[in-house]
Amino acid sequence: MSIQHNIEHITSLIESAQTKFGRATGSVQLLAVSKTKPIDAILAASQAGQRQFGENYVQEGIEKVEYFSQHYPDLALEWHFIGPLQSNKTRPIAEHFAWVHTVDRAKIAQRLNDQRPADFPPLQVLIQMNISGESSKSGIDESELFELAELISSLPNLTLRGVMAIPQNVPDYTAQLTAFKQLAQQQEKLAARYPHIDTLSMGMSGDMEAAIEAGTTMVRIGTAIFGQRDYSQANA
Ligand SMILES: *Cc1c(COP(=O)(O)O)cnc(C)c1O
Repeated sequence: MSIQHNIEHITSLIESAQTKFGRATGSVQLLAVSKTKPIDAILAASQAGQRQFGENYVQEGIEKVEYFSQHYPDLALEWHFIGPLQSNKTRPIAEHFAWVHTVDRAKIAQRLNDQRPADFPPLQVLIQMNISGESSKSGIDESELFELAELISSLPNLTLRGVMAIPQNVPDYTAQLTAFKQLAQQQEKLAARYPHIDTLSMGMSGDMEAAIEAGTTMVRIGTAIFGQRDYSQANA
């Protein structure tokens, strides 16, 4: 199947899930996760109308951002960093990306703020939460959410937009839904204090429908658009 066909297929799945679960038209955005995939694949997706792309690895991500801003500035692609963050690699992220989904500690937030170039718009930030109690070390839990949100809100070069999570990969729909509803609850609590926040980043190729039922506003889809990944070439 072509990438163009896959984008159209995913878009129609998103639309029918929006209808099925009473979600507003256009309330779920598609982030195309292009990690490990070549320039050609991203171009093909952009020809199908896709504008928002997610990358996980710093070096690979900045090369793609630079390539498209040099060769295809008119496409105006919007780049989201969705990978694990190390504090010694925040600078290239602050200098290249429009969004970061994986802010999970004060030090990272502070560095991204300090390293954001003065003539750039604020970096759009999501707080990564750990909701399904999995052993993954990424993401904060509920008890730390407000303290980190408070800090991010006070930083002039960051704009807090919401929360993100990567729940454990399970095939069972009900289990997927339970985890996503937990994150949606956190988002609601946060929105009670910060009414401008509007983004709930959850749902991947294997659990997109449950995420839409639970209220996601941004699904992050890689495999279902670009096919399986070959990690042998990946550089962290
Ligand atoms: C790789 C990745 C995705 C995409 O996963 P697929 O299962 O290929 O759709 C989404 N979010 C994050 C954080 C990822 O690392």
